[in-house]
Amino acid sequence: MNPWVLSYEGFDPASEGLREALCTLGNGRFATRGATPDGELRTAGTYAAGCYDRLDSTIAGRTVTNEDLVNLPDWLPLTFAAPGSDWFRPERADLLEYRQELDMRHGTLSRALRRRDEAGHITAVRQRRLVSMADPRLAALETTFTAENWSGPLRVRAALDGRVTNSGVARYRDLRGDHLTCHDTGDQDGLTWLTATTRSSQITVALASRTDTATPGHQVIREGDRIGTEHVLDLAQGEPATLTKTVALATSRDSAVHDPRSAAIRAVRLAPRFDELLARHVAAWERLWHRAQVDVDGPELAQIVHLHVFHLLQTLSPHTADLDVGVPARGLHGEAYRGHVFWDELFVLPWLNLRFPETSLGLLRYRWRRLPEARAAARDAGYDGAMFPWQSGSDGREETQTLHLNPASGRWLPDASHLQRHIGLAIAYNVWQHYLATGSMPPWCAELLIEIARFFASLAVLDPASGRYEIRGVMGPDEYHERYPGASSPGLANNAYTNVMTVWLLSRALDTGKASPEESARWDDITRRMRVDFHDGVISQFTGYADLLELDWARYRGARRLDRALEADGDDVNRYKAAKQADTLMLCYLLTSDELVGILNRLGYPVEPSLIPRMVGYYLDRTSHGSTLSAVVHAWVLSRSDRARSWQYFAEALFSDIKDVQHGTTAEGIHLGAMAGTLDLLQRCYLGLEIHPDGLHLNPLLPDRLGTLSMPIRFRGSRLFIDADHRQARINGVARPTFITSMQGEPTMTATGDLGRRIAHHRERLGLTLEQVAERADMSPGYLQYLEEQPGTPTAEAMYRLAEALETSVEDLLGGGVDRPPSRGRAGTAPTPESLDREECLKLIEPGGIGRVAFNGSHGPTVLPVNYQLLEGSIVFRTASGGPMDQDLRTGLEGVEIKVGFEVDRIDEAQREGWSVLVQGPAHHLPPDELPKVTITPWAGGERHLYVRITPHQITGRRIHSL
Ligand code: BGC
Repeated sequence: MNPWVLSYEGFDPASEGLREALCTLGNGRFATRGATPDGELRTAGTYAAGCYDRLDSTIAGRTVTNEDLVNLPDWLPLTFAAPGSDWFRPERADLLEYRQELDMRHGTLSRALRRRDEAGHITAVRQRRLVSMADPRLAALETTFTAENWSGPLRVRAALDGRVTNSGVARYRDLRGDHLTCHDTGDQDGLTWLTATTRSSQITVALASRTDTATPGHQVIREGDRIGTEHVLDLAQGEPATLTKTVALATSRDSAVHDPRSAAIRAVRLAPRFDELLARHVAAWERLWHRAQVDVDGPELAQIVHLHVFHLLQTLSPHTADLDVGVPARGLHGEAYRGHVFWDELFVLPWLNLRFPETSLGLLRYRWRRLPEARAAARDAGYDGAMFPWQSGSDGREETQTLHLNPASGRWLPDASHLQRHIGLAIAYNVWQHYLATGSMPPWCAELLIEIARFFASLAVLDPASGRYEIRGVMGPDEYHERYPGASSPGLANNAYTNVMTVWLLSRALDTGKASPEESARWDDITRRMRVDFHDGVISQFTGYADLLELDWARYRGARRLDRALEADGDDVNRYKAAKQADTLMLCYLLTSDELVGILNRLGYPVEPSLIPRMVGYYLDRTSHGSTLSAVVHAWVLSRSDRARSWQYFAEALFSDIKDVQHGTTAEGIHLGAMAGTLDLLQRCYLGLEIHPDGLHLNPLLPDRLGTLSMPIRFRGSRLFIDADHRQARINGVARPTFITSMQGEPTMTATGDLGRRIAHHRERLGLTLEQVAERADMSPGYLQYLEEQPGTPTAEAMYRLAEALETSVEDLLGGGVDRPPSRGRAGTAPTPESLDREECLKLIEPGGIGRVAFNGSHGPTVLPVNYQLLEGSIVFRTASGGPMDQDLRTGLEGVEIKVGFEVDRIDEAQREGWSVLVQGPAHHLPPDELPKVTITPWAGGERHLYVRITPHQITGRRIHSL
């Protein structure tokens, strides 16, 4: 099994939807499902981040408004026909071979097929496609045809198709999906284009297409809202012929465009040919993979980890940061949940923060930009601060559906899930996590935190009878419980997750010091008197939970969506102690046990040591895992107490999309939260990586199935490489449990990419493998490889061990300091400065080499490096006659005596010690008869016929030692 390639053999109509979702290609700006370019059994989908539209539909006699991430015109269509045969359609073809491969390392999807047609012609087709990560406007499909047993003309049709609707999810088919209107098509200078506009958001979308073939000429075919070109390729038996379709997508949401049509046409006209487009795209992916590298052993696990990183970065890449978009729960991969943004970012940002913090910041900014809408929503509902919507799309209004279809009963039912106010807690939690990971909290992030805190503080109402604050009328993450059994209005009281996280939030908001004195007093009071209910020795999911009935689980065994199954049976899931996903246990997912116990103690609730394990067992027994997020949370909460079960849940989350564990939902879009959640589990569950205000803590506990685990991360400005096995965890090759920051912790060295080349060079010189050098240096091979490939910040200690292993010096590995500025590290532990006398100074500079000449240049004070020689107690160097230095120093002029400074130093970055010598005196031309004594060859080369001598009037020097 290739850990970088997902392969599918044969054309299987039944699994096309799943393949399409899993083979989606995207770049964080737009994505296109891996649908076939041909045939009819395809659910084509191209979605651009943030491109939404609202439509009204009539359902069960009511008008409902839904906002969708719009399915954009289809750029893929391309088919072919050999003489005397029909246009190729995979579902009807006699296929001698059919193979599809997603190459995740390079970001390409390829298809190889051989088709025998009615006339017996066998044609081989090889296709590669990409959605450019280098230029996020471009996509391309390259097709190579080979006539295996025939020669003659092959007709090829390529098209842009505007006749698409949002119809990818069966449950939504009663709702309108015809978002595109005002189509227009045209051709210009050999290119074709298509534009359309969304009905209510009025976003104009343009596609422009260019086809390149060796055979010139094509015919343009316009059919309504579709435009295509037909080409005739003259195939000679056995000789491949290639046609490339390059496409640009522009929308009126883009920056720096005049209008989408001209932007798309311009972009596609300027686009390079496929090979170059591919090379740039692959290079962009290579850069992403460097940052996103996660090494696990075992190809099957590695393949899924790659798949999850791949789809995460295709949805949220560095290009996304600037687009004013949020985290779509189902990626840009399908139409489930209409492209809406829920709380799933809670599972996504922790991983991005440590690798792509700019992307996380962009996603937080999406929330901040919608703060006015959230403030208005809070005000309208009678609260303070900002009330974010459970589902969000374009402008931050509440987009949660008011009716949803139960496919099991065929009934449309009222939907109260907008009462999941805990969405705001997720946003605030992410603001705080971003701050902990990067060390920075921009003022607007603090504003977001404070406004959300204000909202939750105003939701909390003091009950005079109990003296406790209560939050009523909400729903927790468990969507099975939206009301009390038989209640006419939805909402529950004191959802424990919401109440406890409100206490956490108010404490963080108080930490920022930005609350007013009155607010501070009230918030502090809430953090001491919030209500939390308990029953049977566990925290109750909400007030009254204890009175619910136990479900007959045997009867509904295997049913993940109990809400639907029970409703279809005429029952109501609200009556039972049955959860869709982790709710109370989310507290253990987001808070450490110390934090949770600390909050409960502060609230005056005594906590038994058995509380958390009891809760885990209690709620796990009552959860149906109707959301893929559930397995992620349970893998975490079991990780220390029941490793085997934890791994089971981890595996379930890992396989949720690739194996479509929810039977059909992946075809409607990947589960981005679960994908990212598994990556986060690797780092925080198995590496035990926790970010605290004082720094990074590692407490690894690798499961038996994982021998080693390694990954680079970025933490508060430092690049760190973390790797662990069953013995220990290392940060930058050194075993240790914590890393504070590079400023306060151990000295690190900012090494350039050249360090890697030098390591590789010495390794090859000695004929050693990575593993051998790693063993000699007592570091993991993974870290050594990382240092060879990427700029890192190794510690001084690691550098010494490496230098010894490679039989060289630290200075040499660091390039003697010539190719990078001297150390930016801290000072030595106990520096001792010492003055040097003239004799010592001369001894130090005697070997010659590089020094720096300082003088008053015509453009101001100037310092330049020169190669020098010490000649009979004077400094001699060469420069170009008439060059800038010659002119400034006027060394040739009689009677002119310009004084210069000349400095040489050697700094040992590893030891934080070194010396410097300063020579001051006049500079003069060296007389011709002394020239033969000079042996300097200037590094800069060129004509440097002028020899200058500095006669020392004063020589001083200093040395700094470390103890
Ligand atoms: C889950 C939510 C989640 C949403 C989008 C629902 O099934 O219950 O927690 O946010 O899916 O992924």
